[in-house]
Amino acid sequence: MIPAAFDYVAPTTVDSAVRALAEAGDEAKVIAGGQSLLPVLRMRLAAPTKLIDLGRIPEMRGVRDGGDHLVIGAMTTHYDVQRDPLVAEHAELIKLATDTVADPQVRHRGTFGGSLAHADPAGDLLAPALALDARFIVSGMDGRRTVSAADFFVDFFTTALHQAEILVEVHVPKHTGWTAHYEKFQRVAQAWSIVGVAATVRAEAGKIAEARIALTNMASVPIRATAVEDALIGKQATAENIKSAAEHAAEGTSPTTDGNADPAYRQHLARVLTSRALTAAAGV
Ligand code: FAD
Repeated sequence: MIPAAFDYVAPTTVDSAVRALAEAGDEAKVIAGGQSLLPVLRMRLAAPTKLIDLGRIPEMRGVRDGGDHLVIGAMTTHYDVQRDPLVAEHAELIKLATDTVADPQVRHRGTFGGSLAHADPAGDLLAPALALDARFIVSGMDGRRTVSAADFFVDFFTTALHQAEILVEVHVPKHTGWTAHYEKFQRVAQAWSIVGVAATVRAEAGKIAEARIALTNMASVPIRATAVEDALIGKQATAENIKSAAEHAAEGTSPTTDGNADPAYRQHLARVLTSRALTAAAGV
C-alpha cells in the first residue's frame, strides 16, 4: 500500500520543528529515519496529514562530551553511534546493543532518538538507556524539560512525550571502566529481540562492586533486574555466583504472548540470557 497523502516540511531548527508540530496539532507527526514510521504509514495504521522531517536539524545530530555524561543527539544514526569513540569508551553498552540492531541499511537511516521515541518494547536501545540512567531532553512550546529513563517509557509504544514535544538529545552518564554486554535472543538474524539483556558491571579486586541490568521485551516497557543486581554486589565474579544471581532475572516481569514466545518461555530466556550477558560482561 502507499501512505495517505500528507504535507511535508523540513525545518532547520528545533524551535521551528516544535512550532510546526504545535500548529498542526494531532494531525502531525515528526519523522526521523522513517524506518518504523514509514511501514506504519504504508499499512495505513496511521495517516498524519503533516510530516515534520527532523533530518535537516544539525543541532540534533552527533555525540559530544558533556563532562560527566555524553550528549547523544536524537537524530544520530545507529551507524554513527556504533562508530563513535566516545560511546565506545564511556557507554559501551549502547554501542554493543546498537551493533545488534537490524542490518547496515537500517542502521544508516534509523536514529538513536527515533528508536527511543518509538518505544517498541522489543527495541534494543531502551534497556541500555534504562540501565545507564539516561536522561531525555525534550523540547516543547514551553521550553525544554528533562525526563529520566525510568519515567520516559510509559507503555507499549507510548512515552512521556506530549503531542507537541520532540526528543532533542539524550544524556548518558559516563560509565568509564565498566565492562558490558548485550545478549539478544532472536529467531532470525537482523530481527528485534524476543528477549534481550543489557548488562554492565564494575569490578574491584575480582568482586562485583556495581551492576546494572535491564531487560528488553519482558514487559510493556524495559525493566531493571534489580534483584539480580542486589544478588551480585560484593560477590566474587565467578560463573557460579553469576548463575545463581541470574535465577532472579524474571522476578517482577510481565512478558506478553506473541507468535514467538509465551510468558514462561520468555522468563526462562531472561534467566539464561542474563547469565550469559553477565558472564561476558564480567569476563568470566
Ligand atoms: P522513525 O521511524 O522516523 O519514527 C518512529 C516514531 O518515533 C514515529 O512515531 C516518530 O514520530 C517518532 N519520533 C522519531 N524521532 C523522534 C524525536 N526525535 N522526537 C519525538 N518523536 C520522534 N530496532 C531494534 O531496536 N532492533 C532491531 O533488531 C531492529 N530491526 C529492524 C529491522 C528492520 C527491517 C527495520 C525496518 C527496523 C528495525 N528496527 C530495529 C527499528 C529501527 O531501529 C528504527 O530505526 C527505529 O525503530 C525507529 O527509528 P527511526 O529513526 O527510523 O524513527
